Amino acid sequence: MDFQLVKGTHDIINKEAKYYSAIESLFISLAEVYGYNEFRTPILEYSELFKRDKNDSSDMVRKQMYTFNDLSNRSLTLRPEGTASVARSIVNNKLYAESDYPIKAYYLGPVFRYERPKAGTYRQFLQFGVENIGIDSIHADVETIVLSFRALKMLGFENLKLKINCLGDAESRNNYKEALVKFFTPIIDKMCPDCKERLKLNPLRILDCKVPEDKELIKDAPKMSDYLNASSKTRFENTKKLLKEVGVPFEVDEGIVRGLDYYSHIVYEYEYISKSGLNVGALGGGGHYDNLIKEVGGPSLAGVGFAFGIERIYSLLKEDNILPNIDDSSDFMVMPVGEECIDRAFIVADYLRMLGYKADSVIEKKSFKAMFRKAEKHNAKFAIIIGDNELKNNEVIIKDMHTQEQTAVKNKDLGDYVDNLFINEEHECHCHDHECSGEEHECCCGGHHGKK
Ligand code: AMP
Repeated sequence: MDFQLVKGTHDIINKEAKYYSAIESLFISLAEVYGYNEFRTPILEYSELFKRDKNDSSDMVRKQMYTFNDLSNRSLTLRPEGTASVARSIVNNKLYAESDYPIKAYYLGPVFRYERPKAGTYRQFLQFGVENIGIDSIHADVETIVLSFRALKMLGFENLKLKINCLGDAESRNNYKEALVKFFTPIIDKMCPDCKERLKLNPLRILDCKVPEDKELIKDAPKMSDYLNASSKTRFENTKKLLKEVGVPFEVDEGIVRGLDYYSHIVYEYEYISKSGLNVGALGGGGHYDNLIKEVGGPSLAGVGFAFGIERIYSLLKEDNILPNIDDSSDFMVMPVGEECIDRAFIVADYLRMLGYKADSVIEKKSFKAMFRKAEKHNAKFAIIIGDNELKNNEVIIKDMHTQEQTAVKNKDLGDYVDNLFINEEHECHCHDHECSGEEHECCCGGHHGKK
């Protein structure tokens, strides 16, 4: 029987998984530096969490959710995003009762959307995101932008485009929606069926339409900036000023409305086009929200957050040949010469592992040549050879795979000897942010670099 992957899903295995982990670790370590705490929420949620509003206009809620009834006939949904789950968790755990605002959460995990699979678009994909909840301030908004911007820079993205827009407060948005209804009603018959529905549910969403003919018509639509009330305008101006002061370049793009209904004030998206011109869609994006916590049963608290798709980040880093350095070498391959030495080799490998070294031993009868081929395949720095003589003399032979030098070492001295071998080891940096060849330090990428 031929078992296939579910359409739109993919395996992340071996070296690719290491790259994913390196990308995720960078996001996590930076979020920790910014004071965010990890939230691990279930992948399964009751469907009502996402279908809070029956007039929700987002494609995600209306058409893309994996919703099914469980055996007790409860409607469950595989989470299509992380924000609603974090909000629910804050409310369920009454974290809002803490006086120490903002509540800062980060999350990482799979999300599910029934979309048409294409480059950079999957039905199960990984999102890393943060939410900053409880203080309605441009500083909270900007903090999430700075954090996301710095993470992308540290990953190696140059020529990154940060697009921001202001959706204003409820009053501004209502005025703007009225203007959009007035503008689109006479021409809606020329537009796609989705836009017809969007006009009824949320005309703002029309601005996000990807149909080329519709895009032409949208060009002449009224602009949000003309409908912002004074306080929304001032807030946006102050946001832009703060972004400039912290050194985050951006451009205002009034076409950015984001895919979800809960946003207000600032929304943003990152665009990156590879050197060869590959554009897999937004790398990530986010925005401010006013009503979400209340909508899931909590008090009225503002929040702001972003989410990144790890697959898109990986594919663009790969495309531009700027994936982080991954150390896939191993320290030792322990080689038994003859079947009777396999046990000793096995024990030596385990001893080395307990000392913190990456070690493996050959556990089947193999020729000398085949064992060296295995050591090379594993990128082992040293081979440890154990034959009858070594067994008898309670020693091992350590061979440097690079210089080919060989030394006999007594079993009792093995720990000290191998520690000495690695004492001057240079560790390569896994991040692209700075030169790491020099002094010993704990790096921003989570690694330990420099001379030991
Ligand atoms: P969103 O929650 O729609 O704002 O998406 C946030 C980020 O998740 C996007 O910028 C993408 O990087 C990623 N993303 C969204 N949808 C998909 C998908 N179907 N496949 C892969 N990544 C996605």
